[in-house]
Amino acid sequence: MSKLFQNYKRADIEFIKAEGNYLLDAQGKRYLDFSSGIGVTNLGCHPQVKSALQKQVDLIWHQPNLYQNSLQEEVAQKLIGDKDYLAFFCNSGAEANEAAIKIARKASGKQKIISFQNSFHGRTFGSMSATGQDKIKEGFGDGVPHFAYAKYNDLASVISLVTDDTAAVMLELVQGESGVQPARKDFVKNLSEFCQSQGIYLIVDEVQTGMGRTGKLFSFEHYDIEPDIFTLAKGLANGVPVGAMLAKSSLGSAFSYGSHGSTFGGNKLAMAAASATLDVLKTPEFLKESMEKGIYLQEQLRHALADKVSVTQVRGLGSMIGIETTACLTDLVKAMREKGLIVLTAGTNVIRLLPPLTLSKEEMDKGVSILASVFF
Ligand code: PLP
Repeated sequence: MSKLFQNYKRADIEFIKAEGNYLLDAQGKRYLDFSSGIGVTNLGCHPQVKSALQKQVDLIWHQPNLYQNSLQEEVAQKLIGDKDYLAFFCNSGAEANEAAIKIARKASGKQKIISFQNSFHGRTFGSMSATGQDKIKEGFGDGVPHFAYAKYNDLASVISLVTDDTAAVMLELVQGESGVQPARKDFVKNLSEFCQSQGIYLIVDEVQTGMGRTGKLFSFEHYDIEPDIFTLAKGLANGVPVGAMLAKSSLGSAFSYGSHGSTFGGNKLAMAAASATLDVLKTPEFLKESMEKGIYLQEQLRHALADKVSVTQVRGLGSMIGIETTACLTDLVKAMREKGLIVLTAGTNVIRLLPPLTLSKEEMDKGVSILASVFF
């Protein structure tokens, strides 16, 4: 009898080793990974990240945030480049979003945060309150007050919720958990201009879309906007737990000494892995190639699934792909797993693919052919 809470529905399988873009189970069966562990190991099992971790293990693992941390400075520099942001490191996406909500409130002196219906921002009280899905909140009592949920891709709906007390609008540029729904370009551009004109902060949750997932380092680069605040986690250290909140330096004084913190945030192991991950992502051509891979994969899927009656749409941005279907998701996932392909679901009717950006053409073709053999 398990001594664990039964809050996850776990498949009867355990991966004990990763090799490149493959996962091995205890029986030695190899599975092609089209999930990156829910968008985390965006580089697969990568030798450069592994070696950075091994080196750091021999030096020092942990140091509190009471001392200088050159690794945090290095990662912040690699994330920010010549842009005008400051970084705060934490341990997860939910925590990064908590930091975003806190800094937006403190810097503006206002309380209301407008997020979106069907959004997902995490499981802590703040990030759960930002989440626009009732099923995530059921049974937990009152959330944090002053959140409201606009219709996605609908600026008029946002405007109708704005009051004098509005601190920020918070959004995913591709809603991931609820079904891989990309935001429209005109909506995002107009929203960004509206927020700027009203002195409302724009928070972009890049926890799932960031770190190359959509073919750019951050998905907001596709939309030609610069958020006031954005958050990262998942792929930031390619599998070592970490989160980050980045905000324009003009908000810096809101996070002054003693105002916010984290024991583990920016831990040396996580930072060593994040730094190596960023080196790979920022290698010339890497993101361009991963953008091309995302386009190729989507094209191949559209082609291979064109005559499947159970497939209603293939959509996505870069390597964040949703296949909308009328078929039973549990059966599909199981059938693909039996054929050696690991995929995810999103919402109630979407097979979600978040493959490593390191897939070869052969690996993409192999995955597509398994997918095509399972859909009817
Ligand atoms: N934000 C988004 C967009 C996410 O997809 C997730 C997790 O799936 C989170 C926040 C929460 O991240 P974490 O599970 O690391 O707290």
